[in-house]
Amino acid sequence: LDALHAADPEVYAAIDAEEERQRHKLLLIASENFASPAVLAAQGSLMTNKYAEGYPGKRYYGGCQHVDTVEDLAIQRCKQIFGAEHVNVQPHSGSQANMAAYLSVLKPGDTILGMDLAQGGHLTHGSKVNFSGSIFRAFSYGVDRRTETIDYEAVQKLAEECRPRMLVVGASAYARTIDFPRFAQIAKSVGAYLMVDIAHIAGLIAAGLHPSPVPHADFVTTTTHKTLRGPRGGVVMCKAEHAKAVDKFVFPGMQGGPLMHVIAAKAVAFKEALSPAFKRYQQQVVTNAKVMAQGLLDRGYRIVSGGTDTHLMLVNLTNKNITGKEADAALDAAGIIVNKNAVPYDEKPPAIASGIRLGTPIVATRGMKEAEMKSIVELIDTVLQHREDPAALETVRAKAKELCSRFPIFHAY
Ligand code: PLP
Repeated sequence: LDALHAADPEVYAAIDAEEERQRHKLLLIASENFASPAVLAAQGSLMTNKYAEGYPGKRYYGGCQHVDTVEDLAIQRCKQIFGAEHVNVQPHSGSQANMAAYLSVLKPGDTILGMDLAQGGHLTHGSKVNFSGSIFRAFSYGVDRRTETIDYEAVQKLAEECRPRMLVVGASAYARTIDFPRFAQIAKSVGAYLMVDIAHIAGLIAAGLHPSPVPHADFVTTTTHKTLRGPRGGVVMCKAEHAKAVDKFVFPGMQGGPLMHVIAAKAVAFKEALSPAFKRYQQQVVTNAKVMAQGLLDRGYRIVSGGTDTHLMLVNLTNKNITGKEADAALDAAGIIVNKNAVPYDEKPPAIASGIRLGTPIVATRGMKEAEMKSIVELIDTVLQHREDPAALETVRAKAKELCSRFPIFHAY
């Protein structure tokens, strides 16, 4: 970073401060992770200089030999991880991966059925404020009020009523194993395509810790930067029959030149994901989440659906008389970073929300295990109980920093 320091001290200072923040704060945002030094090196490489519209072997620019090598590696490794028939690694983000999957086979005005944003789904699954809700006729399903898990009977009924052309599965705030064969059955019964967005759980699937939707779905999309621990970006996987349509919609349909430095970093991350160490890492992510959820339950917190099977949990704070927004702010003041989150059937607006979402991908990347999860639960509980007491928050802040300093970033990959 010496060149940056000399050329642009303001940007350098912001990056330096961000590094400090990542080093010393307890980061529990479920959708984030720390990419490895190798991934960062590839992403920060001079592959950013290369235009490569098209696909390996079929580019619109000369000089693409080496970017072809990295794109081929990324595709082959991604296929090896997930067993997909076809892979496109060019989408710049998860949202764009979803757009590509939709528009490869759907037309504006078609009907989609996806999980409600307010109950755990993602914006791109049909929310009115997103392209998916404005260009498609979007319907949504949610979770059962009592179990707070997906009610497959209700999804079946809704699908029969609205007859979607595509059934969209996947979530940003759902902690339980998703039954993909059941969703495939529902899609088939109404003649819909099945698209599964595994952005959050891709790392768990790669490690065999969550069932894979790949055998069951027409399209599987993901981000590469959450549990998968790669660079920010998206991927579309699909059955061979949709390969041409997906590739054509990604380029030239939706994007121009692919981000070859990001694709190089995706290839590196996929290599890491094929290693035994990655599987051990994902096991620790899931174990940590279970220990954290149990610790919170033991202290009287309500966990949506009663627990977690994955890397995240939603804590409903209604019984503790604190809003998600207040909890988020108090924890932030104590050096613990989470996000406020609506809980199913939330009566508060999304900007206030009744819950917080906690995830373990980053703390597991730092090497923290069960004992540290118990300490984190204690810190969270102290903050929430003493949120009006600046001295208590300061004590937690010092403890959170001390815990982070015992588990430095870039420590274990
Ligand atoms: N899909 C799901 C389930 C997500 O949780 C997210 C991001 O939070 C996305 C897609 C979108 O990814 P991106 O932010 O890269 O557009």
